[in-house]
Amino acid sequence: MVTLKEPKRLKARKEHKCDFCDKIINIGEEYVYATYKEDYIYDWRNCDRCKPYVDEAFSNKDYDWSDGMGWQDFHDYMWEEHREIATEWWKRN
Ligand SMILES: [Zn+2]
Repeated sequence: MVTLKEPKRLKARKEHKCDFCDKIINIGEEYVYATYKEDYIYDWRNCDRCKPYVDEAFSNKDYDWSDGMGWQDFHDYMWEEHREIATEWWKRN
């Protein structure tokens, strides 16, 4: 994975969805935006709600993130380590 654009904070000019936790990022809300290249180029958006948990996951030595952490990886991590929060965020209604 190659970083094309380093993560930086932006203020949303239109509505987005967080690529880690699915939260809607509303217009005017700050989030972290980066561009990466793997087999293809993609944008990645990370909201402030889950950023502390993303940082925690990356620093958790029980997990190997050498291949990066994607959406599914993060969901698995949260269900494993923070079930209450995962339930709150992704509960099925
Ligand atoms: Zn998020």
